[in-house]
Amino acid sequence: MRVRVACPAPRRRRGALASGPAVHFDPRYGRVPLHPDVVRRVAERVDDTTEEIVDFAAALIRIPTVNPPGEDYEPCARFIGDRLREFDFEVAYVAAEGRPEHTPAHPRVNVIGRRRGGHPHPLVHLNGHFDVVPAGDGWTVDPFGGVVRDGRLYGRGACDMKAGIAAAVYAAEVSRRAGIELPGTIEVSGTVDEESGGLAGVHWLAEHRWLAQDKTDFVIIPEPLDVDRVCIGHRGVYWFEVEAHGRIGHGSMPFLGASAIEGMGRFLHLIEHELKPRLAARQTGVPVVPPLARHATINTNGIEGGQPVDGVQTPCVADRCRAIFDRRFLLEEGLDATRDEIAALVADAGRLVPDIRFELHDRLIVHPTRTPDDSPIIPALTGAIRTVLGRDAALVASPGTYDHKHVARVAGVPHCVAYGPGELVLAHQPDESVAIADLVAATKVIALASLELMHGGSR
Ligand SMILES: [Zn+2]
Repeated sequence: MRVRVACPAPRRRRGALASGPAVHFDPRYGRVPLHPDVVRRVAERVDDTTEEIVDFAAALIRIPTVNPPGEDYEPCARFIGDRLREFDFEVAYVAAEGRPEHTPAHPRVNVIGRRRGGHPHPLVHLNGHFDVVPAGDGWTVDPFGGVVRDGRLYGRGACDMKAGIAAAVYAAEVSRRAGIELPGTIEVSGTVDEESGGLAGVHWLAEHRWLAQDKTDFVIIPEPLDVDRVCIGHRGVYWFEVEAHGRIGHGSMPFLGASAIEGMGRFLHLIEHELKPRLAARQTGVPVVPPLARHATINTNGIEGGQPVDGVQTPCVADRCRAIFDRRFLLEEGLDATRDEIAALVADAGRLVPDIRFELHDRLIVHPTRTPDDSPIIPALTGAIRTVLGRDAALVASPGTYDHKHVARVAGVPHCVAYGPGELVLAHQPDESVAIADLVAATKVIALASLELMHGGSR
């Protein structure tokens, strides 16, 4: 799970993606519940396999796929690919050839495995990113040791999201071990760089049609959103830069210059007193967690102007000041209105301080995503959660963003959710860990939901 991301405008490809939806299920049929015997066999098989699942997740943690800079991606892709091959998957390695971050020192290699059942469709794709953020300080265990203690597996990525990858790989495997014939096709991918935007990862797979609307029916991303919550999307991101141009002058006679820093101060004042109250009054209907993130928000990422404060000082009026802002917008707001509102605020600042010229530059845009309300993937997951955990699932949306955007906007696959083991609040923390009970439960849920989607889709 990440909260900062770079995402270029979606590129529509000619052909299948542009030719309208090619869905292979009919939502009118609703859910086709799995036979209780299938449910029992899957659950028993996962229970029997617990040690193997935990060992696999621990082995993934021991491959320190730290991003940045993108360490050990290829060995990790091969490790996942070898396991998938053992489990009868056809495996392909997909390097992000041509992307600037794909270098000999740090190759960007993704792995994708496919096991075909009775029919190419419905195709359920389980995707997990195997990059992890740096360990940082404050650990009481080896962050890359894959230590198990008191029913929890510890390490960087335990929660976000190597447990999720283990759950995906074994969710796909247990049905085979339980002797259940797949009515459709299952794919499992391990991808790079989610933490830094996913352009060489899921975006690459989507751009090169490994994930595509005419091929891929359903995508489950086992990000750590808590074992009883299903994540149906995320807010939008608009990062922009405001540049204030003033006029240099002697610091002893500031009235002969025009301070760009003071000009920026006026803009910040408008943000605080004009914009923020408006944003606080807006609330999305999407169930973003935590609840305060249901409002539109803005943060100042950084500000820079005048002389470097650690440098030698000379008496000058600052003629330039720049600041970068992180505006998270709601599905209901949309990008155009969000950007227009900022542009109007910049124009207001220009009228208030005519000596200063303000410029607005876009820095980064991520559109919000939301799984359609009537998507069969939602009841498949919530139903499986009820079956496995005996309680109702909550539908949530993420305050940040994750690879869902590439699936929805680049591949054009609308039926995507995030669901996986691990507690959201532990992601990126020291002593990151996952409860083994959650890993087991999520493996069952993903296995059952995948089977149900394949059955429902084949009717
Ligand atoms: Zn993640």
